[in-house]
Amino acid sequence: MSEEPLLRVVKVTKEFAKGGIFTPKKTVRAVDEVSLEIGRMENVALVGESGCGKSTLGKLTLGLLKPDSGSVIFEGRDIWSMGKKEFTYFRRNAQIIHQDPYTSLNPVRTIFQSLAPPLIRNKEVPDSKAAYERLKELLTMVGLAPPEDFLNRYPARMSGGQMQRIILARAVSLRPKYIVADEAVSMLDASLRLGAVDLMLELQKRFGMSYLFITHDLGIARYFILKGRGKIAMMYLGSIVEAGEGDSVIQKPIHPYTQIMMTAISVPDPRLTRSRPIPKLRSLEVPRLEQVPSGCKFHPRCPYAEKICEEHVPELREFDSRLVACHFAERFT
Ligand code: SF4
Repeated sequence: MSEEPLLRVVKVTKEFAKGGIFTPKKTVRAVDEVSLEIGRMENVALVGESGCGKSTLGKLTLGLLKPDSGSVIFEGRDIWSMGKKEFTYFRRNAQIIHQDPYTSLNPVRTIFQSLAPPLIRNKEVPDSKAAYERLKELLTMVGLAPPEDFLNRYPARMSGGQMQRIILARAVSLRPKYIVADEAVSMLDASLRLGAVDLMLELQKRFGMSYLFITHDLGIARYFILKGRGKIAMMYLGSIVEAGEGDSVIQKPIHPYTQIMMTAISVPDPRLTRSRPIPKLRSLEVPRLEQVPSGCKFHPRCPYAEKICEEHVPELREFDSRLVACHFAERFT
């Protein structure tokens, strides 16, 4: 019998009402029947353009948003059927790292004043003195030395790279089993980005958690998955269009959207040979969630679209050791 994954998302849908006083209200479907599994100490890199629903999906997996339909299962239990005690246990074990570290902490509190209370409240340590010692260890672990210097500083006196390390230390301080890293390294200078990913993976070896690594950058997603363990999932307008183990979807992209995203890879790698020329988009305009195209959502931009693509939604099916949602997947192998 195969082991129950740490987290399972089953056909989850989330809609929002958009518009207001001057424009008619519309319902937009940010996440559309998405299913996903993350094993223990495994990672999923979720890749897509901004506004495609990645962050909404991340929040659904953390219980920060309630799905309109479908379920989020953590350690075999639907998080929305959990009692208060169980849900508290889940929330402690499911943490988030935001894109902008400066908005994650109160600017008028020192790092110690922000990081110590959760440790005491969750009984990780008995008192403030013990919290200080624990935080010294954590800051040393994330490469901020001497830690005393940083614990007494305010966020405004830290660089972006230092703040991101503080946020990483905070995310692991309660030893969670699952972390959503939402564009966690995209605000860093390119020179610091790979180091931050390396640090995240070092912390994973030490604490054993799983990551949902959300990014718009296929190159950094590939680096993350190759150095760690897991899969890459491509998201387009609220749906997963391709997903595969390791960097298989990048080595040999099948879905036309993945093929096109290859042009934007930011970490060049000579081992990535292109078996076919990269197709050109038919339209550069990304459809808005308020006006999702019929059939295959990618058809107005897809260079290979045919009549069937406008009329029928392609099923996300197993093909060539991965999942692909394209009527013509067989043509692109
Ligand atoms: Fe392109 Fe059609 Fe495949 Fe959609 S189903 S990706 S429109 S070829």
